[in-house]
Amino acid sequence: MNNHRFLAIPSACFLLLSLAPVQAALPPFSIPGLVEPLVRISQYTLRAGDTVTSVAQDHGLSVETVLSYNQIQSPRFLRAGQTLKLPNRNGLLIALEQKTALAVLAVNYQVFPSLILLANGLPETTTAVEGAIFVPGAQVEAVELRRLLGENFFWPTVGGRISSYFGRRNDPFTGLLSSHSGVDIANDYGAPVLASGDGVVTDTGYSPVLGNYIRIDQGQGFASVYGHLSAILTRPGRRVLAGQRIGKVGSTGYSTGPHLHFSAYRWDRLINPMTLFS
Ligand SMILES: [Zn+2]
Repeated sequence: MNNHRFLAIPSACFLLLSLAPVQAALPPFSIPGLVEPLVRISQYTLRAGDTVTSVAQDHGLSVETVLSYNQIQSPRFLRAGQTLKLPNRNGLLIALEQKTALAVLAVNYQVFPSLILLANGLPETTTAVEGAIFVPGAQVEAVELRRLLGENFFWPTVGGRISSYFGRRNDPFTGLLSSHSGVDIANDYGAPVLASGDGVVTDTGYSPVLGNYIRIDQGQGFASVYGHLSAILTRPGRRVLAGQRIGKVGSTGYSTGPHLHFSAYRWDRLINPMTLFS
């Protein structure tokens, strides 16, 4: 019927909920039709400079409400002119692939069943729901939210300065025009190399170009690669947190001096890391 991809919320995110504001605003349940609808939707057309965060703030909404209601997978790629739907209260639009007992949904999100029915215009007699269901008051954990926002790239070392940017440059050895797959951050030999986001180490090793390297899968299609290391302090399969020490700056591989080569990928395509650092 439609090809929308809804936000998949892991069950671990069902736990942290704030019920107070929603309960305070409850309309009387017994007279539906006589009260203002629980969820009204307005449209907002993005202007240059708008971000999901600024739109949410301007409309008194949480960021995850805007993300989930519009099934935004990549907030970085929103464009001016694009129209967003904004509900008049916080919550999450949940995709239920199969019929789910209303009671289960209510317990998972710690929301009154009747509130879910009202929010979705469903009859009082409903006991199971499926498809896209708006759960008012539902929230996601801070960590998950940061991941959804793609804001999971932190400066991957302590200090240092950028000595070469992403894209076209003159090869440091041959002087010929070439393409640089990341940014080079010049730093002291042995300076810490830090995970740029929460993730899982998928690969470590040595290559003639990158020298000693580490690759981290950061979720949501994002991955990061750290090259020319003098030491690797992690192993494939390890979970790492943003800012965690994973190696030391060095000059192994195709390198003219101690620096960290940092590459970023989205869905296996190189992206400019400078667009990802907050
Ligand atoms: Zn480099």
